[in-house]
Amino acid sequence: MSTIFKKIIDKEIPADIVYEDDLCLAFNDIDPQAPVHVLIIPKKEISSLAEAGEENRDLLGHMLLIASQIARDLGVSESGYRLVLNTNKEGGQEVEHMHIHLLGGRQMEWPPG
Ligand code: 5GP
Repeated sequence: MSTIFKKIIDKEIPADIVYEDDLCLAFNDIDPQAPVHVLIIPKKEISSLAEAGEENRDLLGHMLLIASQIARDLGVSESGYRLVLNTNKEGGQEVEHMHIHLLGGRQMEWPPG
């Protein structure tokens, strides 16, 4: 099933893109929960982390390193940031296309809701 994120990848709907390469895309969240709130998604349609397998090892590693690079580029690397990977229903995942939230620019709280 095609998701809203697939439409963003295909440029069928607009997004505020902050990074793109052959494997992944990163864009600002439409409903930001912090001064920096970027979503990093694979271009390949993987519905959730629970569906990712050994064949996605390099892709997943790449996405983490890209998240780290974007955090540096957006000036939150030194102050700190949080990566969130909501997975399936009880994980709070709403869009069924795997994505990493990069949140920064304010003090994060713990425990999460
Ligand atoms: P989830 O709850 O699945 O982990 O996160 C989905 C995220 O996607 C939410 O933070 C939501 O605000 C964001 N989102 C949903 N639809 C759109 C959209 O059309 N454009 C953008 N940029 N973000 C979206």
